[in-house]
Amino acid sequence: MLIIIHMILLNRILQVLKCIYLANMLQDSFRHKGLRKQLIEELKSMNITDTAVLSAINQVPRHLFMDKSFEERAYENVPFPIDRGQTISNPYTVAFQTWLLQLNKNDVVLEIGTGSGYQAAVLSLLCDKVYSIERHQPLMLKSKKLLKQLNYNNIQLFFKDGFLGLPNLAPFDKILITAAVPELPNTLMQQLKIGGYIVLPLGNGEQQEMLRIQRKDKLTFTQEQFNYFSFVPMLKGTVN
Ligand code: SAH
Repeated sequence: MLIIIHMILLNRILQVLKCIYLANMLQDSFRHKGLRKQLIEELKSMNITDTAVLSAINQVPRHLFMDKSFEERAYENVPFPIDRGQTISNPYTVAFQTWLLQLNKNDVVLEIGTGSGYQAAVLSLLCDKVYSIERHQPLMLKSKKLLKQLNYNNIQLFFKDGFLGLPNLAPFDKILITAAVPELPNTLMQQLKIGGYIVLPLGNGEQQEMLRIQRKDKLTFTQEQFNYFSFVPMLKGTVN
């Protein structure tokens, strides 16, 4: 009997310690919040003026989506390496792509290239539901765990080749590709609602042109071109 009580007590203590550890690990301090405010000012000076986008960026603790060793620099406008040779995009790129999507509160969005999960978190604050696909299983699993711990409950992640999209859940109001596509991804464009946007960086070189494509009707798409950005390539297949 005494042993059972001890076991229960020990279990409780371990649970509390785990909570304290997690709370410390996932801390969003006044310092982080202050640095985020400065980042928002920097984004404004770079012509990001959409208040909803800025407010979403201001709410997501970017420092938790990257390696601890970069924490001090998490609110600089630079990309950082994440596992598997991939990157978390710089905040300007995240803000710009998010702005291009012109999100509505009830939009269902598909993201290709979950990476750290940061962009998905930003999107999730501006729409109803985010589905995000990642081709590297460890990246997907890590992001899934973090997004759950941070209570982003309207995001669902998939380990899959993003070129295939999610035909069973289509059509989507908006699609965002956060890796460089070598050519227009027809399969994904077919998963867009009429009137919906797909935003993607197009090109094989160091720099890719940002495009926003709108589906006008079943067969017609129109295209707008924006600046050049630098993304890791979108590659076929999955990696365990
Ligand atoms: N949105 C991410 C940044 C992504 S970097 C963030 O906020 O951190 C681009 C990501 O796209 C990488 O993680 C890469 O593995 C992934 N990727 C590349 N090709 C892909 C494909 N075919 N399907 C799904 N993900 C892909």
